[in-house]
Amino acid sequence: MHCPQCKLVNMQTMKMGPVTIDECAQCGGIWFDQGELDQVIGSADPDLRWLDIDFWKANSDFAVVPDSKTCPKCSRHHLTRLEERATDTSVSLCSNCQGIWLDANQLHAIIQAVTRCASRMDSADYMKESLRQVADMIDTASQKPLSISRWRDLQAVLRMLKYRIYSEHPKLLSMLVGAQKSLPV
Ligand SMILES: [Zn+2]
Ligand SMILES: [Zn+2]
Repeated sequence: MHCPQCKLVNMQTMKMGPVTIDECAQCGGIWFDQGELDQVIGSADPDLRWLDIDFWKANSDFAVVPDSKTCPKCSRHHLTRLEERATDTSVSLCSNCQGIWLDANQLHAIIQAVTRCASRMDSADYMKESLRQVADMIDTASQKPLSISRWRDLQAVLRMLKYRIYSEHPKLLSMLVGAQKSLPV
């Protein structure tokens, strides 16, 4: 699968439970496949504690913006960019296959915003420690763009994002589809 950012660069595949992550060695961006959201919500998954983080919650204010990048999976299908104003973070989504694209800068911005949210929680010692570890990885990210994908809880954070987008903000989906229809083909 080609990187939506670098076009002709092939991404590297990493299996994380039921989902596959593709990362681009050149730009450090990550593609997160659809995954099995129902399974996440229904199971006694230790990752579920990340869902308590007060990030991109129901009161969030979003902007939906057309993205010039195309889905690496659905080839000609354009991605749509979702920007959250309060934290100034964004992700790009494919409304067709429900995959998520995160460029390296956004991934770092999201980790920093999640860290701020976790620091306000009383009972989040595990998450605070885990986020401290990834913050150390981000410091060296300029030399090693892939290091963040080795972070154990990356999958949990990506699932949390996905959960917010597809389960807590059902209106967003119709906005995403609407935004894509208005794009020139
Ligand atoms: Zn790339
Ligand atoms: Zn797609």
